[in-house]
Amino acid sequence: MPELPEVETVRRQLEPLIAGRQVLGFGVMPGAERLMRGRSAPEVDAQLNGRTFTSVTRRGKYLGLNLDNGQVVVVHLRMTGSLRFRASGHEEEAFTRAAFDLDGGDQLRFVDVRKFGTIDLVERMEEALPELGPEPLSDEFTVDALWHALRGRQIAIKAALLDQANIAGIGNIYADEALFLSRLNPEAPAGSLRPAERRELHAAIRRVLEDGVAHGGASFRDYTDVDGAEGEQQYFVRVFRRTDEPCDDCDATIRRIVVGGRATHFCPKCQPVRHRNRQVKSTRPRRAGGTLKPR
Ligand SMILES: [Zn+2]
Repeated sequence: MPELPEVETVRRQLEPLIAGRQVLGFGVMPGAERLMRGRSAPEVDAQLNGRTFTSVTRRGKYLGLNLDNGQVVVVHLRMTGSLRFRASGHEEEAFTRAAFDLDGGDQLRFVDVRKFGTIDLVERMEEALPELGPEPLSDEFTVDALWHALRGRQIAIKAALLDQANIAGIGNIYADEALFLSRLNPEAPAGSLRPAERRELHAAIRRVLEDGVAHGGASFRDYTDVDGAEGEQQYFVRVFRRTDEPCDDCDATIRRIVVGGRATHFCPKCQPVRHRNRQVKSTRPRRAGGTLKPR
């Protein structure tokens, strides 16, 4: 699924291609009507006709194609969706679900194998969005803001990072990578992080997302940019989908477990389970295994 770096890559590529371009029509292919949220395809076609795209914004994993009348086309790529800018005369392509016809005959196509992506035309972008936490690459994302989302939470830190209401834009790839860089076990309770660990996790989140953007996103399965090309971040991951390979830092074998229903990759040596109660001493002899604890 495209995460913040992939969606940001699309945003950066798309803006100069469509800003200033007039929309002459919009249509959804038969059988793909379900991708429309709110207004129907004919309604959106009527609203967009003659309007001009001005800019492209991103919030979390959502793209906002801004129009000259203030309206916004909000696109969520979900699992396998992609936006392709195609010059006039470009051949039709499989799995095209919707298309914006632009002046000069160019097309902005929404291509989606699985048909989970959505398109919504709204007056303000927020109308189309669920509750989203801070943008992790913005100034509002401070160590305190991170801790505000995690403190008091018993759920696994991995699951907390995936919750878009805590932080916007992080998915499975960048959550695993950020936890590896900050040496945190993915199953550690979110609210158990010590101050130094919070700072390390905050810095690691920023770093993995910035690296992802710098490499044009990660293409493990379906993600492609507006030209249909793949990103390169998949060549730089440390643990994600490297199950049974040796860790770059310690040579231990990278493991795959399931946390909160999601495949999770980590190095058991670099990211050990922390026993928080190790310092608690019992005054009674331990009977487990029939041996007394040596004193
Ligand atoms: Zn390691």
